[in-house]
Amino acid sequence: MAKVYYNGDVNEAVLQGKKVAVIGYGSQGHAHAQNMRESGVDVIIGLRQGKSWEQAENDGFTVYSVREASAQADLIMILLPDEIQPAVYKNEIEPELTEGKTLAFAHGFNIHFNQIVPPKNIDVFLAAPKGPGHLVRRTFEDGAGVPGLIAVFQDATGQAKEIALAYAKQIGSARAGVLETTFKEETETDLFGEQAVLCGGTAALVKAGFETLVEAGYQPEVAYFECLHELKLIVDLMYEGGLEYMRYSISDTAQWGDFQAGPRIVTDETKKAMKEILSDVQTGKFAKGWILENQANRPEFTTINEAEKNHPIEVVGRELREMMPFVKAQKGAVGANN
Ligand code: NDP
Ligand code: MG
Ligand code: MG
Repeated sequence: MAKVYYNGDVNEAVLQGKKVAVIGYGSQGHAHAQNMRESGVDVIIGLRQGKSWEQAENDGFTVYSVREASAQADLIMILLPDEIQPAVYKNEIEPELTEGKTLAFAHGFNIHFNQIVPPKNIDVFLAAPKGPGHLVRRTFEDGAGVPGLIAVFQDATGQAKEIALAYAKQIGSARAGVLETTFKEETETDLFGEQAVLCGGTAALVKAGFETLVEAGYQPEVAYFECLHELKLIVDLMYEGGLEYMRYSISDTAQWGDFQAGPRIVTDETKKAMKEILSDVQTGKFAKGWILENQANRPEFTTINEAEKNHPIEVVGRELREMMPFVKAQKGAVGANN
């Protein structure tokens, strides 16, 4: 079994007297910054002028340009969108990376795929909460936390791992458990997980189930509740007690249907597709495609995104959620779209 670090295993004193610059104030940025501040860390924010700048100031932070924040800080955590990071790093962060500073990430993409190549005389680590930013904040406020991964890419000071663990603790992850990994493992498993299971796989499964029912003449509203809304209730049970607890809670009829139908839906073919997806992640084919798509101003991303918004499940869902204010995402809240 891998070693899992909890609060008691971590020496947060290594962050004492250090100034931390959180670069970006989006989904992850606002959560890291607010959690760390409440943990007693000296936090400043680095941004461009705009919506986030205003938000961070309203939340009581001192905000600087990315360059100025990088100059002032001992530890610089980059929480910008991954595809934006290389240019901002080159122009505004790299010039301020003097010996002994620490550069940190919440995802290994740019280091692992060589889009950012830091100087050798600094520490480089990642502290990646395994959950969306607004939950990193909400669970922290509830006295809990989102589990996290840490990894060290460069250890110039001999303290990089301790600093990474302290960081993970101060954002609340060590309340739930922190695992040590590598940039390679974090990057590849994160990309695979979001593509095959969490986002790509689940969205496609939900849409296919909805379409099957609607095409067979059932009411879209019923299909929406069955295939999308109820998924959360089922996943909550898995989250609390694994597949076993989910199966304990559902009816025996549902459980028998689960055993019979599951293998007909996720077949050897599906598994083969998953292996191909993993291979595209490992070889860098996925990363290359995404980098090129961004360089071309995202033509395919934009087209698919528009078409997806108009899918019948989204149209009926928007109407139904209007009537269920208690489930609505907080529109406009930082990170609510992540
Ligand atoms: P967001 O898209 O939510 O954050 C965007 C932030 O970056 C905004 O504050 C935005 O400010 C700012 N920004 C964008 N461009 C610039 C620029 N050129 N100069 C200065 N600031 C800029 O990012 P995420 O929080 O989703 O992702 C951050 C990192 O965390 C990524 O590495 C991601 O992989 C990782 N991660 C994300 C998770 C998530 O839950 N989303 C989960 C785990 C890891 P403005 O308002 O001005 O646009
Ligand atoms: Mg990811
Ligand atoms: Mg049912």
